[in-house]
Formats: sequence, structure tokens, C-alpha cells
Amino acid sequence: MNSPELKQLIKTLAFATQKHRHQRRKDIEASPYINHPITLVDILVNEGEITDLDTLLAALLHDTIEDTDATVEEIQAEFGPTIASLVMEVTDDGTLPQLERKALQIKHAPDLTYKAKLIKLADKIANLRDIDRSPPAGWSLQRSQTYFDWAKQVIDGIRGSHEILETLFDEVYKKRPK
Ligand code: NDP
Ligand code: ZN
Repeated sequence: MNSPELKQLIKTLAFATQKHRHQRRKDIEASPYINHPITLVDILVNEGEITDLDTLLAALLHDTIEDTDATVEEIQAEFGPTIASLVMEVTDDGTLPQLERKALQIKHAPDLTYKAKLIKLADKIANLRDIDRSPPAGWSLQRSQTYFDWAKQVIDGIRGSHEILETLFDEVYKKRPK
């Protein structure tokens, strides 16, 4: 990695860390939220062998618009239109009811650009691994199962995109709670 790319990566990590600083994940230990975007980049680079910078930067930012006060205009001003557009591709429409948002993720998955598909794959791998390790506080067995099945429906819509990541998804899906 050259120096400008390294600087971009660290700038983006710092931005995401700042935006998510008051948030926690849903696991019983309430882990710091930033662990999750960092995990995505770890999966993409060290398991998926993906080094495309736009993909890695957008993965670090993938939950900032959905879950923090970050706006698309802010992301665009800081990181440019390509990254902003990638982040928007993986951002749900927060004005819609939860069930509709879930249905739209399944419907829109096949239409995502290649880089957004990689981020979506890493996101679902990370979330299923988290649930397998320790389900979110208060989740019933059925809720974890429903989540695994929904994630599989999303990923089934982007098959044929990246063999390694799809295999990693299939491996974690085998751990669907029983
Ligand atoms: P949620 O959408 O409420 O939670 C899952 C999301 O939370 C993940 O996609 C992930 O999103 C994020 N997340 C944060 N911490 C964790 C973690 N430790 N492990 C995994 N994911 C984590 O869950 P559901 O999909 O189950 O529910 C959707 C809606 O349906 C909710 O509004 C809920 O109230 C309702 N509901 C569903 C039930 C069910 O059986 N499915 C039962 C009762 C209600 P990200 O990667 O984007 O951060
Ligand atoms: Zn996520």
C-alpha cells in the first residue's frame, strides 16, 4: 500500500471511530460498535484477499449513515462521490418500516455494484459470526434462526460475485442455531 492510500485508510477509520463513538453492538457484552466495521475490513483483506481501497473505505463507513448523524453530503465532502455512492448502496432507507427494509435488502441485492456486493457479503459474514458466538441480548432461538435465514436470502441474490467470501458465508451459515 502506498502512502496516500494508507493515509486515506487511517483517515476513514478515524472518521468512523468518531461517528460510532457512543454506540455499542447488541451482544451481551455491548462491544464497542467500531469493532464491527473493523471486522468487515479484516474479513475483506485478510480472508477475502481484497485490497481495493474504495471497497475498504466504504466498508469502514458502511453503517455511518444508517446509524450515526453522518449524512451523505458529509461523506461526499470528506471522501468523494464514489465512496458516498458505495455507502448509500449498503444503507437502508431509515424512513421505511423494519420489515420492508428487510424485504428490500433481498430484492435489491442482485442489483448492487460489485464493490457493494463485497461489503454486503462481509457484513453478513460478520453478523452471523457474532450471533453464533453470542446472540444479541434478548434474542430467542427463533429470532436468531430467522436472522440467519434472512441473511442467506440476501446473499443468495449475489452469488457468483466472490468465491472466497461466499464460501466463508456458507461456512458460518452451517452454524445456524438449532
Ligand atoms: P435487528 O435488525 O433489530 O438487528 C440485527 C441487526 O443489528 C444486524 O443486521 C446488525 O446490523 C446489527 N447488530 C448489532 N449488534 C449485533 C450483533 N451482536 N450480532 C448481530 N447483529 C448485530 O434484528 P432482526 O432482523 O431480528 O429484527 C428486525 C425487526 O423485527 C426489529 O425491528 C425487531 O424489533 C423486529 N422483530 C423481529 C423478530 C424476529 O424474530 N426476527 C421478533 C421480534 C421483533 P448492522 O451490521 O447493520 O450493524
Ligand atoms: Zn454492518
